[in-house]
Amino acid sequence: MRHESNFLTVNDKVGILNRQSSNFEPQRVLNFAIQRAATNRTALVSSFGAESVVLLHMVSQIDASLPVLFIDTQMLFAETLVYQSEVARQLGLSDVRSISAETLDISVRDPDGTLNMRDKDACCALRKSNPLQQALKGFDAWITGRKRFQSGSRAALEFFEADGNRQIKINPLAHWRPEDLQNYIETHDLPKHPKLAQSFASIGCAPCTSPVKEGEDARAGRWRDSDKTECGIHFVNGEAQRQPQKGEFSS
Ligand code: SF4
Repeated sequence: MRHESNFLTVNDKVGILNRQSSNFEPQRVLNFAIQRAATNRTALVSSFGAESVVLLHMVSQIDASLPVLFIDTQMLFAETLVYQSEVARQLGLSDVRSISAETLDISVRDPDGTLNMRDKDACCALRKSNPLQQALKGFDAWITGRKRFQSGSRAALEFFEADGNRQIKINPLAHWRPEDLQNYIETHDLPKHPKLAQSFASIGCAPCTSPVKEGEDARAGRWRDSDKTECGIHFVNGEAQRQPQKGEFSS
């Protein structure tokens, strides 16, 4: 299959993978992607946010040495950094790579850390999209935690999607609902992000994340009072795209 796949385009591969996995559960999608699919070099991209532990646990059950790319924007809650270390240790993940913007880029473009107040898209590009784009250069495919229920732009999300003409994005949780995630966390007694206890339902950078009120959408606390709904982490032909912002790595 790997030999034949060399002659297929990414869109061809995605079509085949989606047809073969259409009735799979997330664990089977992951297993298929990591062990058997036409994706030789695969990484999990994780924010170690509110629900990230689900995919991290699933991956640890299949291959705890799979590279996990953690984007440290240097704007995260201190609790996220502690949680990241603790989850990686507890699950035995042996190749968690912390990805950050170059110190020089930060010092030139956001020396006082206020770019998020002036231009959120530029800040996300500097601190998230560009470092991730660099880190993903060595991979054929990356696993994300995106789900259909999260927003209208994700409503038709498939397990596999083309990311430009070279890479494949894998969305094993595409069809899961919030209750599926909670059931999984409870069933496996997985550690919860400490900010969840403070009414944070979706957890990103500290300046751009606020608690949600009862009845609000989980992502209402992300970039509150702004039109922004996504990090804009979406690549076309290896280049980060800001618009349309249809993709990100959130989990
Ligand atoms: S979420 Fe906010 S602080 Fe984090 S990179 Fe984007 S704009 Fe900057």
